[in-house]
Amino acid sequence: MSAVDLFGGVVGQDRAVGQLRSALARPVHAYLFVGPPGSSKEAAAIGFAAALVCPSGGCGACDSCARALRGVHPDVTTIEREGASISVKEIRTVTSRALRKPVEGVRQVLIIDDVHLAATSAPALLKTLEEPPPTTVFILTADDVTPALATVASRSAIVTFAALGEADVADWLMARGIEPLHARLVAAGAAGDLERAALLSDDPDYLVRMNRWREVPALLDGTGAAAAAAADELLASLDAALEPLRRHHAAELAALEAEAKRRGERGLPGRKEITDRHQRAERRWRTDELRAGLAVLQRAYRDRLRAVLEQLDDQPGDTRLIDEARRDAAAVERISAAASTLRRNVQAPLMLSSLLAELGAVD
Ligand SMILES: [Zn+2]
Repeated sequence: MSAVDLFGGVVGQDRAVGQLRSALARPVHAYLFVGPPGSSKEAAAIGFAAALVCPSGGCGACDSCARALRGVHPDVTTIEREGASISVKEIRTVTSRALRKPVEGVRQVLIIDDVHLAATSAPALLKTLEEPPPTTVFILTADDVTPALATVASRSAIVTFAALGEADVADWLMARGIEPLHARLVAAGAAGDLERAALLSDDPDYLVRMNRWREVPALLDGTGAAAAAAADELLASLDAALEPLRRHHAAELAALEAEAKRRGERGLPGRKEITDRHQRAERRWRTDELRAGLAVLQRAYRDRLRAVLEQLDDQPGDTRLIDEARRDAAAVERISAAASTLRRNVQAPLMLSSLLAELGAVD
């Protein structure tokens, strides 16, 4: 068998992977991988687990490595979360798993994903981490270190995963057979999230939506009516873009409710947590989509500015061109300012209509 890179599924995280490779010489009992969604922490967890259970320290060539990467090694267990958060019952499963002896080698690895969703079960998890069975290594992954996780974090070695850059995401998409131009457009809208990039690259409407943003400068004729119409159109397409995710959430909720009914429960336990999680995901999707659109809009003004500057090279001192360049440069700056408010949870419709009104106003 030829050797494979155990961290081959990890995209653009040289620092984290370097840290993990050197940790292999003397592993501690718990690792906490922290980084935004889609930053390939899960792929890193599998690769690291494979290395930890390999009899040759992570050769990438043996049967143990191959089975660990395929997810069928008896000493590598990923704890799957069933509901919206990690329940105390699931943590009890972890505790009893942790006490077992490894089946094949000198240690076993337990991977627990999304531990930032372990608010209520964090104390139980902490207890397990505080009395570590000597042959068990924990790999926890989290989007953030939440207050409930602070003590868990203090008992673990922290490995930080950075949000991916556009170039990393574009390379990853091209390696999956996406056309370079399409890959770059998708990467611009993926906000460093590989899962979002994969979804967008399968979404034929994405390019249509981004083109709408690109056409905005041509639609603005200086009237408030044109600005308002353009804003309405963008917001409507944003809502339409959310539909598939909403349908997916509704189907998930219906399936969980049917399951609870089969078990004879009166309602769905944790229903509020589930709908809260859905709402968070929908808000995040909207913000990401808006940020992607603003980036495309900004690029449109940058391209215009570049064209005007080239013309100015030929006609230096042309006051009409100088005015145009000034306006385009101001537009680029205003879009940056609008994009920076996205983090502060502003009202998207309000932000967008006032931005377009500003961009359309001739000064
Ligand atoms: Zn191996």
